Amino acid sequence: MPAPAEIDRAARLLLDGRLVGMPTETVYGLAADATNPAAVAAVFAAKGRPAINPLIAHVPDMEAARRLAIFNPQADRLAAAFWPGGLTLVLPRTVDCPVDLLACAGLTTIAVRVPDHPVAQALLRATGRPLAAPSANRSGRPSPTLAAHVQADLGDAIAMVLDAGPAQVGLESTVVRVDGSGVIVLRDGAVTRDALRGVARAVTDVGAFDPAAPPSPGMILRHYAPVSTMRLEAAEAAPGGILLGFGPVSGVGPDGGADPAWSLSPVGDVVEAASRLFALIRSADAQRPTQIAVAPVPDAGLGAAINDRLRRAAASQA
Ligand code: AMP
Ligand code: MG
Repeated sequence: MPAPAEIDRAARLLLDGRLVGMPTETVYGLAADATNPAAVAAVFAAKGRPAINPLIAHVPDMEAARRLAIFNPQADRLAAAFWPGGLTLVLPRTVDCPVDLLACAGLTTIAVRVPDHPVAQALLRATGRPLAAPSANRSGRPSPTLAAHVQADLGDAIAMVLDAGPAQVGLESTVVRVDGSGVIVLRDGAVTRDALRGVARAVTDVGAFDPAAPPSPGMILRHYAPVSTMRLEAAEAAPGGILLGFGPVSGVGPDGGADPAWSLSPVGDVVEAASRLFALIRSADAQRPTQIAVAPVPDAGLGAAINDRLRRAAASQA
């Protein structure tokens, strides 16, 4: 864990408009002072992120969240149930919301989250500012679950990264819009649909939409992709390829041998698979295999978010 002096240094850099790699329980974020337009612009530039894709504003608690977004009773219930934690709420911006408009891609709504990580919490409190923090990867690449991933993708653009070890969940937050007493899922993630059903009367998908006006801009973008091509629902590795196994399907490493180290979860646990997904995709990619094949992953629990990421990583090459 970073020492308090390192967190203070990171806070000073952020207040100075610089970018900092921030550990959270989901994945590592590329943090910037969300009220500083130049810092926000630097986030888009560093990631190569299209300016139409808004950033999540991170705050330490509900009181800070209320300064940014207008909560209705259902949003209050969701926040009470899941914050701090891996749920992002898309809500109307307050009239005097201090978050830069570019961070919200010019929308009248804002995505807000209270992260559940002691270092993220300490950094948010030390800066006293909302921090825009998209995943700290180059746009379209697998998300970072280690400080080393942040350095590899964005080392030139950041002032420092706070290294707190592997991200615990390994998948991004679940993004929802509140709809009456229900929720509409814009992105599956760390909080499962089952967990949401415990609080919301209805948990629904966005359904068909006009690609010119997506309910969440990130939906239309390629994402999470390695350089190698990917094949899903695979039973075996291609010649010269790697197989990321799951449970009964054992992983196959770059030397062609069966190896549990190349399994998302040898015991078949989707929570473990989530925490290993992006790191294994990055490690496999680094071997430059002919192909990365992935065994079927059950869709239950966190499996829904894993399969969402895998589909988008594979589809982007089609
Ligand atoms: P990331 O910052 O990489 O974790 O991605 C954040 C996700 O939240 C992206 O898919 C965005 O498109 C989505 N998002 C952020 N703000 C909004 C918003 N105001 N309305 C809808 N989706 C949003
Ligand atoms: Mg991302």
